[in-house]
Amino acid sequence: MIETSVKNKLLHQWPPKYDKEYIPDLNEKYWYKDIETASREELDEIILFKVQKVMEHAYNHSPFYQRKWNKIGLHPHDIKSLKDFEQVPITTKADIRQDLEENPPFGSNVCVPYSEVHRIHGTSGTTGKPTVFSFGKDDWERIAHQHARIMWSFGMRPSDLVFIASPLSLYIGSWGALIGAERLGAKTFPFGAGQTGQTEKAVSWLKEVKPTVFYGTPSYSLYLAEKAKEQGVDPKEFGFRIMFFSGEPGAGVRSTKRRIEKTYGCICIDSGTMAEATPWMSNTECEHRTGVHLWLDVVYTEVVDKDTKQRVPYGGEGVPVYTPLERTSQPVIRFWSGDLTTWTDEPCPCGRVYPRLPKGIYGRIDDMITVRGVNVYASLVENIVRSIDGLGEEFRLVVTRENIMDEVTVQCETLGTRADGELEVQISRDLKRETGVNFKIKLLPLGTLERTQFKAKRVIDNRDFRS
Ligand SMILES: [Zn+2]
Repeated sequence: MIETSVKNKLLHQWPPKYDKEYIPDLNEKYWYKDIETASREELDEIILFKVQKVMEHAYNHSPFYQRKWNKIGLHPHDIKSLKDFEQVPITTKADIRQDLEENPPFGSNVCVPYSEVHRIHGTSGTTGKPTVFSFGKDDWERIAHQHARIMWSFGMRPSDLVFIASPLSLYIGSWGALIGAERLGAKTFPFGAGQTGQTEKAVSWLKEVKPTVFYGTPSYSLYLAEKAKEQGVDPKEFGFRIMFFSGEPGAGVRSTKRRIEKTYGCICIDSGTMAEATPWMSNTECEHRTGVHLWLDVVYTEVVDKDTKQRVPYGGEGVPVYTPLERTSQPVIRFWSGDLTTWTDEPCPCGRVYPRLPKGIYGRIDDMITVRGVNVYASLVENIVRSIDGLGEEFRLVVTRENIMDEVTVQCETLGTRADGELEVQISRDLKRETGVNFKIKLLPLGTLERTQFKAKRVIDNRDFRS
């Protein structure tokens, strides 16, 4: 079935009403060829139309955005170009939290009546008060549709069976994967993760049922592989064709990607923005795995300077700022991610118009550690540790302050296949080459460091900045 001229619809109808039954021909590479291979000018035209509409909608229905924009005399009619849009103030997590505190329980940014709220989700609140999200039914369906469309780009098809190995709780990641796979017409196996003994059970289920696609966090996939090997099972026996990930940067880290692909004999796909910017799959790699594509007609993403908040040119480093373009129930306009990345508009072999983050998201402004004036990201250390033969998957970065000097110790586990002294020299040399920093190395027996069934915390900063 062919849906004719989606491009034309996207220039005239907002929120767009998509054909709920549409699925491309199985041999078709693109879900919507006319949008995905449009020229940059055509794409920008669609984005600008959607930006104007979503801002108008927010202004008319969200007291949160009315207050925010009235304060500075901004009206959506002022936005006549994407350049103008760069002047719209950033929305931060702190803004949203403050609004939730002042207007409990759902905040003043819900733009549909309570009776039309379909799903409530939220963050776990590990770093402060949890954030609540309300989704209307139409939004939920559009999220499913866009996720299906993006899953198509890395090769998922209706014949696939998707194993969802992340918590089916408040965590929006699992649900986004589930509803996208369902909309695509694939079979789903929402297994979950995090309960005692669940990983051992996963190993036997996977052997029996043989799903073709895996979704979870990169850390968890490596943990699952370890558990499988303990039971004498080669993870390749599961037969995954595709493994896609969100929740952590790992799948975008070159050596981790290689390890996952080698361990499971699959392709490893990096994906994901943030819960607040759902549909969170708007950053996702295509089958060519050249870094996540920014699906700009789904979520308009700008990479901006971390201090000036001005857009950086392609090739530059900055912070992604997200504007979901089809959310009516709870719009977010220019949401500050706090992540670090670089972007490029060099073409990808898939032929899509969307720019890419060639190294994915490789750090967070607040997770980055500065050691003697040098910025060190856990993902950089991860890339090195996982590229060295004789080391296990797990590692920690421990920062301490001795007198006035910062010391960073990298703890990693050995497989016992190489001499410790030789390993220490190689790790230390590779780290120094990539970062310019001298690290202390501490080798530990395999299995010493704690494993995670969800998102890993690998940077431990023991410095006391009060003294
Ligand atoms: Zn591509």
